[in-house]
Amino acid sequence: MSTIPGIDPSVPPSGAGCADCDAAGGWWLHLRRCAQCGHVGCCDSSPAQHASAHAASAGHPIVQSYEPGEDWFWNYPVESYLDHGPTLAPPVSHPVDQTVPGPADRVPPNWQAMLH
Ligand SMILES: [Zn+2]
Ligand SMILES: [Zn+2]
Repeated sequence: MSTIPGIDPSVPPSGAGCADCDAAGGWWLHLRRCAQCGHVGCCDSSPAQHASAHAASAGHPIVQSYEPGEDWFWNYPVESYLDHGPTLAPPVSHPVDQTVPGPADRVPPNWQAMLH
């Protein structure tokens, strides 16, 4: 098991979409998974930036991309990528048939103008 602070490989992700956007009826561009508690949040280009908000409020420093085919880790406090990290509990990305941006039924026609 990992000894990297901020990473618990045994915790599964919270769901297929941003937990906070799903609660609020929002939408996202890309998804990030908290490597400590499994919270799935939206990226800093998304309207609500829930992943970084979670990192700040919960004090959980590291996320992994939750996009299919991506396995990089980002450390918010030091603003850099990790050189390597453990394999987290599956699934390691949202479903491949889930749209980007998503979810499809909540993305507005002018979504590109709403990105950060
Ligand atoms: Zn969100
Ligand atoms: Zn967390």
